[in-house]
Amino acid sequence: MNFELDDDLLDLQRRARAFVQAEAEPHYRDWPITVADYSPELKAHLKAKLAEYGLTKLIVPKDHGGQGLGAMADVIVLTELSKVPRRMPTGPFAPWPVMYKASEAIKRKYLYPVIEGETGWSMCFTEPETGSDLAAIRTSAVRKGGGWVINGRKMWRTGHHGASYTAVAAVTDASKGYKGISIFLVDNDTPGFEKVRDIPVLSRTWGIEQEVKLVNVEVPAGNLLGEEGAGFEIAQHQFNRFRMRLGGLALGVSERSQELAVDYATNRKVFGKSLGSNQAIQWMLTDNQYDIESIRWNTYNAAWLVDRGGFDAARLQASMVKAYCIDAGLRVVDRSMQILGGRGLSIDDYPFGDFYNHLRMCKQMEGSTEIMKMVMAREILGKKG
Ligand SMILES: Cc1cc2nc3c(=O)[nH]c(=O)nc-3n(C[C@H](O)[C@H](O)[C@H](O)COP(=O)(O)OP(=O)(O)OC[C@H]3O[C@@H](n4cnc5c(N)ncnc54)[C@H](O)[C@@H]3O)c2cc1C
Repeated sequence: MNFELDDDLLDLQRRARAFVQAEAEPHYRDWPITVADYSPELKAHLKAKLAEYGLTKLIVPKDHGGQGLGAMADVIVLTELSKVPRRMPTGPFAPWPVMYKASEAIKRKYLYPVIEGETGWSMCFTEPETGSDLAAIRTSAVRKGGGWVINGRKMWRTGHHGASYTAVAAVTDASKGYKGISIFLVDNDTPGFEKVRDIPVLSRTWGIEQEVKLVNVEVPAGNLLGEEGAGFEIAQHQFNRFRMRLGGLALGVSERSQELAVDYATNRKVFGKSLGSNQAIQWMLTDNQYDIESIRWNTYNAAWLVDRGGFDAARLQASMVKAYCIDAGLRVVDRSMQILGGRGLSIDDYPFGDFYNHLRMCKQMEGSTEIMKMVMAREILGKKG
């Protein structure tokens, strides 16, 4: 196992750093706080700049018009882009279930426009009565004529701004437990698919979540993703991808926090000497470094495994990244904030507040820390049994 980045990955990292230094870091304070409020001009500008630096469509397969790069490339770019406390409107993000499970006709309608950044999509798996336990959802899909009719209620729809459709999980056969769940692509303007309420959340850069309801929502048969009953498996695949990518976020946020903490500790004078000459501060910096190295090697290890054996080969490691790296990143941000004293709490001058709140939200979504430990335990015990 060798995590030394090859020339191509080093070049990608250099381009991502150059983008952040020239196009984002000096300007982000002039951008709206949430991506939902970015103007079409700003979105187009950032999209063009990302393309100029070769940072778009990274993991989109070549036969879908992308660069066909792997998980390590994805993580390396995400690490750099995460150092800016604003979300990029056109990151290297695509609806993987659609990419791998849909027919060509569905891909034309739902995948390619997302890859081109012309539209977005969101997911509705969680419900008011169940989140961690996906197998307990109650939203139902019943066959009618040539299609399906969906009824139910969903919580926490993310990324609905600028999205034209939603991947909705519904029960198609209640007798089969998790094997009776299917996923449907539902156009957001379908009659009966309605917002119930907005849900403002902790992170101001995140935007607003939604609770939605589906009342006799009709979808054509072709909008069933993959096989009937394959929804749980498709969701797990999607979650595995998200979980591993969150290691890149935790790494970027932690590295940037440590840079700022080191800078402050070096230059700030307290009681007639540099702040960093105090052992209490030095130990916070060393603890940060432990955490950063652990995040880096956990994340690179998972990405390395994915690039060799696919996401299903790295289920344990992707869950470990999600459970461990988010908590480690929160510790780094918190210590760094403390080193900067009052300035650490200024949300205009420093990114710590946005970093912290963003990471804290990530601790809960895509499978909480407790659920990740449950998945890891199953993998560990399963391998012994
Ligand atoms: C910012 C944000 C964005 C989100 N975006 C989306 C989205 O776009 N689409 C979507 O479908 N969902 C989304 N979610 C929902 C998210 O996936 C759920 O919040 C998550 O799955 C947990 O479900 P829950 O909130 O219902 O908590 P619950 O399932 O009620 O669990 C409550 C707490 O108990 C813990 N817990 C549960 N079971 C166990 C157990 N067996 N042992 C020990 N502890 C346990 C959990 O870890 C959690 O901390 C989002 C959530 C947030 C906060």
